[in-house]
Amino acid sequence: MNIQKIGIVGAGTMGNGIAHVFAKAGFDVTLCEISQQYLDRGVSTIKANLEREVAKGKLSGEQSGHALARIQGTLDRKELSKCQFVIEAATEKLEIKSELFRDLDRICPPEVILASNTSSISITKIAAVTGRPEKVIGMHFFNPVPIMKLVEIIRGLATAEQTFASVKALAEKVGKTPVEVNDAPGFVSNRVLMPLLNEAMYAVMEGVATPQAVDEVFKLGMAHPMGPLTLADFIGLDVCLDIMRVLHDGLGDPKYRPCPLLIKMVDAGWLGKKSGRGFYKY
Ligand code: NAD
Repeated sequence: MNIQKIGIVGAGTMGNGIAHVFAKAGFDVTLCEISQQYLDRGVSTIKANLEREVAKGKLSGEQSGHALARIQGTLDRKELSKCQFVIEAATEKLEIKSELFRDLDRICPPEVILASNTSSISITKIAAVTGRPEKVIGMHFFNPVPIMKLVEIIRGLATAEQTFASVKALAEKVGKTPVEVNDAPGFVSNRVLMPLLNEAMYAVMEGVATPQAVDEVFKLGMAHPMGPLTLADFIGLDVCLDIMRVLHDGLGDPKYRPCPLLIKMVDAGWLGKKSGRGFYKY
């Protein structure tokens, strides 16, 4: 099937970035949200990010205008029935994704591939609520989407070879580098990254070093562009905790136990950059 019109569910951090890259690559985009306020915020972010690319000389003003014109916002999920590929980037809650995929399965023509940008929920589980598990797949972009090259493509247990090949080709068309992984808690990225962040938190909790010292070790000694605690603050400490819980529950190994300091900070509402306080103050 020729894919020209892409449906994106959710216009938050990831959804607006995904809309940005598809529109810039010449696809028509239908961006679906639950409230006008979130939709407007997503579209203004896309506009600001495209303008930044123009200011840096990466894009002409005309190209930026055309990209923006290709994005159509909607609060009506039924509009997604006109799309040839749908990617879901809604809130990371199994109930929300299950309801969405059940409904997308009803709304979208049977040949349409339904992808999820989930960072940790099982693709096999999401696929199982639909009548087309062979056409459900994980397409995991990284933040900030317009900049990061990687897309983890995750096969659920039932994902068909043809589905995988189509999504790989799509990722390449929007200038990304796809990496194939199988469905497992945290996939590869978060299974390896999150325990590193969690261990850095244990080092702080046990008084081994300050957050600044831990971050300096990784920046200067391992050439990481930002230290693990700064990164955790950027991702959101609540998100880090959710992912550690997915790893701990899903893999059953005590090495994935969330750091008690992380739990305490989330309980206090110190969620990192977005709340103004995490391991650092913003
Ligand atoms: P976010 O909170 O910024 O955005 C989620 C958006 O989804 C919100 O605007 C919300 O209104 C909308 N939404 C919720 N339910 C909806 C529904 N039923 N229909 C339409 N819109 C709905 O979250 P985010 O950081 O963009 O994360 C989205 C997804 O991407 C999650 O699955 C997350 O795990 C994944 N992800 C996030 C990151 C990251 O760094 N933030 C990285 C990779 C993957």
